[in-house]
Amino acid sequence: APAALAGRVPVRGASLDAVRSALTGPPPNRPQPIPHDFRVWRRCVDGILSREAALAGLEASGLRGMGGAGFPAARKWRMVAALPGPRLVVVNADEGEPGTFKDRHFIETAPDRVLEGALVAAWVTDAEAIYLYLRDEYPDLHALLSERIKALPEGAPPIHLRRGAGAYVCGEESALIESLEGKRGLPRQRPPYVAEAGLFGRPTLVNNVETLYWVSRLLDEGAGLFTSRGRNGHSGLRSYSVSGRVRSPGVKIAPNGLTIAELIDEYCDGMEDGHHLVAYLPGGASGGFLPAHIRPPLAFGAIEEHGGFIGSAAVVVFSQADDLRQIARDLARFFAHESCGQCTPCRLGTVRAADIMERPAWDLARLDDLAHVMREASICGLGQAAPNVWQSLIRHFPEFAS
Ligand code: SF4
Repeated sequence: APAALAGRVPVRGASLDAVRSALTGPPPNRPQPIPHDFRVWRRCVDGILSREAALAGLEASGLRGMGGAGFPAARKWRMVAALPGPRLVVVNADEGEPGTFKDRHFIETAPDRVLEGALVAAWVTDAEAIYLYLRDEYPDLHALLSERIKALPEGAPPIHLRRGAGAYVCGEESALIESLEGKRGLPRQRPPYVAEAGLFGRPTLVNNVETLYWVSRLLDEGAGLFTSRGRNGHSGLRSYSVSGRVRSPGVKIAPNGLTIAELIDEYCDGMEDGHHLVAYLPGGASGGFLPAHIRPPLAFGAIEEHGGFIGSAAVVVFSQADDLRQIARDLARFFAHESCGQCTPCRLGTVRAADIMERPAWDLARLDDLAHVMREASICGLGQAAPNVWQSLIRHFPEFAS
């Protein structure tokens, strides 16, 4: 932390605003955003790129939702476009998965690309407005986006910038929509899905920041940008948010499907001196632990057989110096804290599990029972995925989970 705050800690007697900006404002080395001229959107409204051609281009690329679910992007667009209007587009910029910071990177470096992706989405689905929901812990990005939205090309549909309030669960699309409507961010029971009845009851397309960034790039440069890249049987490019015991952590734009060893060696300059890979989280807190010797492609659908998932590709790297038991406890407590409390399996299950994990000896049968009930009966992904924390530790690291 001291290194991260170097040069940013205000002098004694500084105003509250100065303290806030020092702690949450842009880092001194923040990259300058690359300007973009919205040429893809202009080609759409000028009739050069048809709706069908845009959808076919995305289908050819194989672009999937980068928020974590991995649903094919073009299929979701088609579903919303086929429903009776008026329709809306929502940009999910509420990234809160522990270890994930890639949406921040895309907004910092290419805000116009992200906004263009949203404009194209609105044009293809014939949506009348766009709402961008930004986590409030990114106040500097709020300022940047406000500025870039003001500079949108003439004729663009309105983009309403809204601030989240720090709830992890509001990254879940139906909770996000409740929050946008001014209510508590409680996930909704489905059906109906938000595509059918989302914001203000209208058909709503919800896309993640990174997805929209790639929409702009893919329709600009062609599907070959994805089809010519990839590794280990998976195609495309994607971001990995890498943290932990590597020499060069950060957001890595890399071929989809890298293994953990390839990601660390080729993109992170290897492990830190004196550390070797023992375990990693492939998908943040929700994706579970994997041991060093299990190295599936880091791609949608490739990790499930090992009891985890890639989600938003928040890769956290641990070494022999890390106490996995303590880390699992902290993650379980995180889920207990962030549970919205709406459904009993998650409200009680997360707290019970965290309590068991505080004890010197874990009751494995009870943890297994809780995991089963939470997976089967929780309303949303938080309660369904939280058991990955202890179940993956028990499966792969029994020495830490007893
Ligand atoms: Fe809320 Fe948890 Fe139920 Fe999701 S699973 S609705 S976070 S209580």
